[in-house]
Order: sequence, then structure tokens, then C-alpha cells
Amino acid sequence: MPRIVEIISFLENFAPLSYQESYDNCGLLVGNKTEPCTGILVCLDVIEDIIDEAISKNCNLIVAHHPVIFSGLKKLTGANYVERIIIKAIQHNIAIYAIHTNLDNLEHGVSGMLAQKLGLQNVQVLAPKKGTLSKLVTYIPIADTEMVLKGIFETGAGSIGQYSECSFVIQGEGSFQPLAGAHPHIGEVGKKEKVLENRVEIMYPNYLESTVVAALYTHHPYEQPAFDLIPLLNQHNQVGSGCIGDLEKPMQPRDFLAYISKTLELSCVRFTTAFTGEIKKVALCGGSGSFLLKNAITSQADVLITGDFKYHDFFDAEDRILVCDIGHYESEIHTKELLFTVLTKKFVNIAIVLTSIHTNPIGYYQL
Ligand SMILES: [Zn+2]
Repeated sequence: MPRIVEIISFLENFAPLSYQESYDNCGLLVGNKTEPCTGILVCLDVIEDIIDEAISKNCNLIVAHHPVIFSGLKKLTGANYVERIIIKAIQHNIAIYAIHTNLDNLEHGVSGMLAQKLGLQNVQVLAPKKGTLSKLVTYIPIADTEMVLKGIFETGAGSIGQYSECSFVIQGEGSFQPLAGAHPHIGEVGKKEKVLENRVEIMYPNYLESTVVAALYTHHPYEQPAFDLIPLLNQHNQVGSGCIGDLEKPMQPRDFLAYISKTLELSCVRFTTAFTGEIKKVALCGGSGSFLLKNAITSQADVLITGDFKYHDFFDAEDRILVCDIGHYESEIHTKELLFTVLTKKFVNIAIVLTSIHTNPIGYYQL
């Protein structure tokens, strides 16, 4: 039986915590990660019924998309549903883990899955994230360069898009003088040394930084390797908000509304009536994606599908783009399936249960 920490490590390797937005609260929210995991319950929202379901199905780990503790807790008296959930979870030794905007921001995360459901082609991240990449620059004796590079590449550094083991190498002369107490790989104490070295540059995602530096120390022959860690302004094209892709064939807005309603099993779509053009390029974002309206227009999308659009935001679309608000829950419902699939592939000897509870607090009244 794996311990809870093993499931968490896997999830955080899949969707690094550093990819979450600044306002978010992803990670282990409740529970002891050193406990053995008796079973995992996967859901979108943690409500009180979900805790009961975890108890009845003998799952001591709930993996949820939305963090039930979001803006902090000052009391635990059971005065509201959040406090009651936390109290009950602790009483029954149930851990709660949230994988939220870090999952949203993955290329094949929440929005990527929605794009797949709609059969979009040429799918890319709509608003790639900045501030997630850095570059390692280091200086290695020529003969040791290949070995050091190999060790660093093994961490996952040097991957750019569909390319791995990317680096740049240029030769130059390094100099140093070992002082008393040093044990130099090349040269001797008290004597100035000049060595032909390679200057090596490798890009890496920030979350790998400590692993990359550890690999550098392990594989570099010098007692004290010289290196720089340089934050980059480049955007990370595989990480960010929303997706954009193409329909196989263009559709008229009414046909498109019918298509998404049928494919995503929607009972209600709120949409802008001003747009009358053909739909070919589709932007989408699972959850609250109205902040992506400008990105969608700039990227020449014909439609933006998301949830939580406000009245005045619909005006901002003017006649430039069709906005389809399909509902927050409806746009993320497949996230459970995504989590269930990745967990089931990795952990074969543990019960992984998809919740059977409908957690959407919103209903749609129809005559
Ligand atoms: Zn959401």
C-alpha cells in the first residue's frame, strides 16, 4: 500500500505546484502525508457528502480540483460548510489534496481535455505563462562536458517543446587559484591555473531548480563548480491558461451551439448574440475564463468557451467573437476523468474511485 506522500509526489511531478496562480491554494490541505493510502476518491469539489462518500468507500485521500480551503481559515467551529468538512475529515483521518490552477495551466490539463472532447486540432496554450523558465550557465573542462550534460539532462532540463537535451556549448579559458584546504580536480594549491573549458547553457523549468543544481554538483568534476542561474522572461509555450485549436470543418454559430451542447451534454449555454460569422478557430478555458477574452480575440479565435462570464463581459465581446458560457462545473466536469486516468495508470494496487456525487451547486430550471 503506497503512502499518501507517494501519491502527492506523483501529482506534483505531473502538475508542479509552482504552476499554480498566485491567489491559489493547491497542495495537501488536510491530513498526514506519511499515512498509508487506503484508497483515493477523485472529485471536482469537496462538499460534506464527499467526505461521507470517502468514509463509506474506505478512501483516506480525497483528490479534488477545487481547494476547499481557499482564502484561509480563522476558526474551526463548524459554523459553515468549509469548517464542517475540515472537522469531519480530521475526525475520520481523511486527507484532502487540491490540484487546481497548476492542473489548469498544463498543456494537457483541464482546458486541453476540453479541447480533446470537442475534437479540436492544432491545439496550443492560449495564454502561455511567463516567469516559469530559467537558464543554467556553467563551465566544464572539455573532457567532462558530455558526462555532466548527460547528468543534467536526466533531470528533465533542456527540454523545449518537442525537443529534449537542448544545450549550447562554446569553448573558452577558465582560470582559478586553489587556496589552502582546496582539493582541486585540476592544478595545485597556491598555483594559478588556466583550463580550456566549455561554457554550457541549458534551459529548465523553475520547479526543477534544486534537482538541476544537485545534478550539477554530482556530475561536475570540480570541487566548486562555477555556475549562474538566470531567470528568463521567455513564455513557456506548454504552460498557461486556456487552449486554442481548430474545428475540422467551419460551422455556423447555431450549429456550433448545438454541437457543443450535444458533445458536452449541456443543458444551458449563455452566448453572445452579436457575432454572426463562421466558427473555425476555438478558444476555450475550463472554469472561470472571462479574463481570456482579449487573448482569444488577439489570437483570432471565432469563439471563446468558458464559464462564469458576467453580464458586462458579454458586451466586451461586441461582434468580434462568439462567447459561450457553458457553466463552470460543466466546463470542468471532465477534470475528474483526467485525474482518474493519470492516477489509475500509475497506481495499480490501490482503489481509485470517481465520485458518484453531483457537486454542482447550480441548477437550471426548465419549463
Ligand atoms: Zn474551477
